[in-house]
Amino acid sequence: MSNKPKTVRGMNDILPDVAARWQHLESEVEDVIQAYGYRQVRLPLLEHTEIFRRSIGEVTDIVEKEMYTFDDDGDSLTLRPEATASMVRAGITHGLFHNQRQKLWTVGPMFRRERPQAGRYRQFHQFDVEAMGYAGPDVDAELIIMSARLWQRLGIDSIRLEINSLGVAESRERYREALVEYFNGVKSRLDEDSIRRLGKNPLRILDTKNPDMRDIVAGAPVMLDYLDEESAAHFEGLKALLEAAGVEYEVSPRLVRGLDYYSRTVFEWVTDALGSQNAVCAGGRYDGLVEKLGGRATPAIGWAMGVERLVALYEACGGGYPPVAPDAYIVAVGEGTQARAFALAEELRDAASGLRVELNLGGGSFKSQMKRADKSGATWALVLGEQELSEGRIGLKPLRSAAQQENVALDQLAAVLQERTSGR
Ligand code: ATP
Ligand code: MG
Repeated sequence: MSNKPKTVRGMNDILPDVAARWQHLESEVEDVIQAYGYRQVRLPLLEHTEIFRRSIGEVTDIVEKEMYTFDDDGDSLTLRPEATASMVRAGITHGLFHNQRQKLWTVGPMFRRERPQAGRYRQFHQFDVEAMGYAGPDVDAELIIMSARLWQRLGIDSIRLEINSLGVAESRERYREALVEYFNGVKSRLDEDSIRRLGKNPLRILDTKNPDMRDIVAGAPVMLDYLDEESAAHFEGLKALLEAAGVEYEVSPRLVRGLDYYSRTVFEWVTDALGSQNAVCAGGRYDGLVEKLGGRATPAIGWAMGVERLVALYEACGGGYPPVAPDAYIVAVGEGTQARAFALAEELRDAASGLRVELNLGGGSFKSQMKRADKSGATWALVLGEQELSEGRIGLKPLRSAAQQENVALDQLAAVLQERTSGR
């Protein structure tokens, strides 16, 4: 038996090859988010457990069974399972919502003790975008259009948008009564979780992942029939803006999302390309949450996107990555060449920003240094021997083509490399 240390179940090391892909996609996502005027915040991974209990809701999968909670000298703390609650807490803590509107985003790890499987982990990563102080529906549409822009930019096409409205507390209460009546009528066919939720939080039954419950859920009354007038107008406004922007959607009347804080607009981008883990980006409006967590009543909306699922979907749609290998690998053999090579590497990095230069470290024969150069994936080896050094030149040897080695004057090298790597 191997005694290699293991990672915690459902938590993954992101090794260099994969991390480079993440970096590429993350910078694309950041560009899009910031193009809409959202500003980054960075939040702690731990919050007082209360924050999540009160916002996500007691009778939800997350709070009932998925949180990593521990006692810290009498304080109950929880590793964040999602970012909206922390974002709202931070805004209240620092008075960010007082007579101000905020467009905020963050990215980082989230923690849920779920059953690990492809596309579902216990530590996963999310981009999270939130707009506070905007009543919508224009901002609702803009947030969705922002995500649509991202799919377009990344060439992701196997994705579709589902939207629904959950109305406001009063209309939801009437809907809740209708749901209780319906589910009571089919009680003998409900699973254990749903029976328990029937009394406390019947909306959650609609969010069940149990396939045996699908038919029962499909026959349940729909929220859209219980919408108050203003919520209905809000929903129509959203649909009109999406249509005007050319963003296709499906109204999905049983979409409720797995957290209690939502009101009015909810949406999910789903795909058929990733098996059963089909939600890539999801969100909604949470007009009551800021007040519930102790702030002034502030309308708000946001979405969260799973980085792991974005990466998987991007690749499933044929997305590629820019090369990350060095441009040049400096091979230095002979008296006095190492010191010159060191200085040269710095000169190149100064002269051409973005140029990736790797210097051979740890000496070695010409042959072993060339082997390392090749293995690094570099486009060129820069060969500096005693002869070259005394003549003020360097050998520029292409490693990825059959082209001949050239000699380049040392003081011309930066310009030559810059020219050959420009426009990549
Ligand atoms: P699902 O229906 O797949 O459980 P969810 O509705 O619970 O997703 P949210 O809480 O809305 O997901 O989180 C937003 C996004 O975060 C999801 O669309 C998904 O991309 C990602 N996500 C959620 N849970 C996980 C997880 N355990 N592992 C990986 N990604 C996840
Ligand atoms: Mg979930």
